[in-house]
Amino acid sequence: MPEKLDGKQVAAAIKSEIASKVKDYRESGKRAPHLAIIIVGDDGASHTYVGGKINACKAVGFDYTLMQFAGTISEAKLIKHIESLNEDEDIDGFIVQLPLPEHISVEKVTECIAPEKDVDGFTNQNFGSIVTQHPLLLPATPFGIMELLKRYDIVTQGQNCVVVGASRIAGAPLSLMLLQQGMATVTVCHKYTKDLAAHTRNADILVVAVGKPGLITEEMVKEGAIVIDVGTTRVEDKTRKSGFRLRGDVDYDHVAPKTSFITPVPGGVGPMTIASLLMNTLRAYETSEQGEG
Ligand code: NAP
Repeated sequence: MPEKLDGKQVAAAIKSEIASKVKDYRESGKRAPHLAIIIVGDDGASHTYVGGKINACKAVGFDYTLMQFAGTISEAKLIKHIESLNEDEDIDGFIVQLPLPEHISVEKVTECIAPEKDVDGFTNQNFGSIVTQHPLLLPATPFGIMELLKRYDIVTQGQNCVVVGASRIAGAPLSLMLLQQGMATVTVCHKYTKDLAAHTRNADILVVAVGKPGLITEEMVKEGAIVIDVGTTRVEDKTRKSGFRLRGDVDYDHVAPKTSFITPVPGGVGPMTIASLLMNTLRAYETSEQGEG
């Protein structure tokens, strides 16, 4: 039987560790870490994700500020708000929830975030810090995956790790982290990869971050592999009150029996991404408090 990599449970343990630190800080007369969240427009999924992040802040005792803007806000105005958060000494870290409306450049906006407050780990400096091995704030989703592997004592050193998907927020930084910190042999696959299955079948650890439900089928996975499914696609489900459910990139029911460890969707990588956001915010706070000496 495969063991479930229970991101929900691990994230709960991380939250309780953070909550206890925050309690100690408060009791010693210090302020609490403070996260700001910017959301633009009225995308339903984005509002749900932001709600989850706010609940996580509440659970660990962080202060939080939610800044909501209409989808018509100009890029220049949004950047002004970002610059004021960069300057605001009460804010330790902040995120700009994606996606943004089409008239706003994600790259431009991201690069305006001060790297020391970039708790999503999206800026070029934080991305590059994976390679220099002096990480400031690591990209949240890959950081969460590395932490999940660590907490299950899964050794990556020398393992064949195959990462399917090479996006800037998930696959690309994760492959670098597996290579640098994880000391693994890493193969990165993307939409132009020839014969995807030939690569995935070679994986001791297979990570899939594509956004195509059911992409990875039983025949594509080696017996005993460890499988991490990052994909979260909303698919219609009329039996649910919400009208949808989340599906991963892996055909879980058929793949799971072949694996030694596998993440469920939901309840695997998603909660770990939120836990990473909290770990990064705590780190930004502690760095800034030390700086104030
Ligand atoms: P993305 O920016 O669209 O990137 C998808 C990647 O998959 C790209 O590198 C693309 O290749 C590659 N790809 C597309 N079709 C492929 C195929 N048939 N075979 C192999 N590779 C293929 O998406 P993303 O932002 O990384 O997100 C991916 C999924 O993870 C989504 O479902 C998203 O919701 C989920 N996600 C979940 C979390 C979480 O916390 N749970 C966090 C982040 C993302 P090219 O580079 O060649 O285009």
